[in-house]
Amino acid sequence: MADTLLKALAYDNEVRVYVVNATNSVEEARTRHQSWHTATAVLGRTLIATSLLAGNLKGNDTLSVEIKGTGPVGTIRADGAPNGDIRGFVSNPKVALELNEAGKIDVKKAVGLPGTLTVSKHMQDSEPFRGQVELISGELGEDFTYYMAVSEQTPSAIGVSVLVDTDDSVKAAGGFMIQVLPDASEDTIHALETKLSDLGRVSDLIEQGIMVEELLATLVEKDNYNILDEYPIQFHCHCSHEHFEEQLARLSLEDLQLLIEEDHGAEIICHYCNSAFQYTESQLQNILDHKYHR
Ligand SMILES: [Zn+2]
Repeated sequence: MADTLLKALAYDNEVRVYVVNATNSVEEARTRHQSWHTATAVLGRTLIATSLLAGNLKGNDTLSVEIKGTGPVGTIRADGAPNGDIRGFVSNPKVALELNEAGKIDVKKAVGLPGTLTVSKHMQDSEPFRGQVELISGELGEDFTYYMAVSEQTPSAIGVSVLVDTDDSVKAAGGFMIQVLPDASEDTIHALETKLSDLGRVSDLIEQGIMVEELLATLVEKDNYNILDEYPIQFHCHCSHEHFEEQLARLSLEDLQLLIEEDHGAEIICHYCNSAFQYTESQLQNILDHKYHR
């Protein structure tokens, strides 16, 4: 089953709902970063939320999420775009904590409070936007919900869930974002609250092989929704040999000379996707010659 994000209006068009299945993308993030189970859940939940927030963007807009807590995973970063591309990393992917008292992966402890959640948006048609909130939970779903309420003044409910298998692979990863539109009635808000209070974990539903449309149907009133859009979600990093060549060209003359004369080449590893790019001595010499016109 391919990863999909589905957008819909529900409850007589008074509520906006996004649902996403990101199981393959989170599994790709895990294999690329060789993350251990707690770090996989932390990164996965962040990637899912990033895909949901990016669903609100248009065209070539992009957004970046940065979570800085005091827990062992360190800084968490993720990027998303409205075409469904997501990528991300945690500073320390080798984190495997004991399960919490409820028998669940201890995301909260791995993230660690106090901390901050920052979202930066780079938009074609308007000024860059940056919103920051304190972490209130560390479980991340509530933190993104709090961010939407405080920084974007959009009352929302965001749920994110990652189920890691006994062999450390990702068994299920998905989530939802529900936004009550300004003219929603009290009845709708009440019906939605009741629905959300008895909803099982989203990953349990995805694990049962449920499609995003069925997931949507469990979140809203039966037969009272319109699907607006559906598109694939994928882990995709836009880094390249050329991209890092530009970074190398920013180095000082001394640093470039050191790489050429002592290391006889360079290797750059992309934080986001863990891909390695090699630069030979002569490629570095070309960069240096071009920069210093020698
Ligand atoms: Zn990359």
